[in-house]
Amino acid sequence: MSAMDEFTSEKPGVVKLHQWEKGWQKSKDAGKNPPFHVNDVHPMLSKHLEQLTGGRSGLKFLFPLCGKAVDMKWLADQGHTIVGVEGVEDGVRQFFQEAAIQPTVTDEPSVNGKLYQGMEGRISIYICDYFNFTSSVKGQFDAIWDRGAFVAINEVDREKYIQLMKTLLKPDGRCLMEVMNYDPSLFPGPPHNVPEDELKQLVGGDYDMTLVETLDRSEEKWFSLPWIKTAYYLIKATN
Ligand code: SAH
Repeated sequence: MSAMDEFTSEKPGVVKLHQWEKGWQKSKDAGKNPPFHVNDVHPMLSKHLEQLTGGRSGLKFLFPLCGKAVDMKWLADQGHTIVGVEGVEDGVRQFFQEAAIQPTVTDEPSVNGKLYQGMEGRISIYICDYFNFTSSVKGQFDAIWDRGAFVAINEVDREKYIQLMKTLLKPDGRCLMEVMNYDPSLFPGPPHNVPEDELKQLVGGDYDMTLVETLDRSEEKWFSLPWIKTAYYLIKATN
């Protein structure tokens, strides 16, 4: 049994949005948080925040596939503006409830979904398929925290995802991304194994991609894998 069993799909490694919805529901029924959720501010975000912001304040942050990451509230409390995108509405309801923020909820035809807003508009979360969230919806971003997002999408969508990310970043914008490294013959994901070469190729020559840190997570026995690492990359346009 792995921690992600409630997210298991019919086809190994491919998970559609309705299956994520079921996974959220199963965790809730069991009185638990989803297996990917981190209860506190992500240590790698707080550690590398300065590199992500470039020391600037009042930034516009994007959280793709945001779940109910508490990092959103943490950054909003520091004066940044947060935009999240999440396909499962109940996860977003839980975020606002646990953060003790009363959201306003409206229909959002531009993404074929809904919009939850709180803290005087400093936190906006769109409920929709991420691929509906183009730069025409909310413009471009100074910073993207990509945690559990690129590794969560289906592998066939990787190129589309990175292209979208590039259009969502301002010319001087930066993205901090967490990926997993493990033997994919032993576990289909999500979260998926992302080889550095593949990511480099997708990101392309117009962007710098710097390895910020690698953590050996083998002791945590995630998904019963004999070894697993997380790697953190800073991605920004070359000037
Ligand atoms: N970033 C969050 C959640 C990671 S898990 C965290 O770190 O805790 C991936 C999340 O993406 C899940 O909440 C899932 O419901 C959502 N998701 C998966 N596919 C999606 C899609 N196509 N569009 C929007 N959200 C999606």
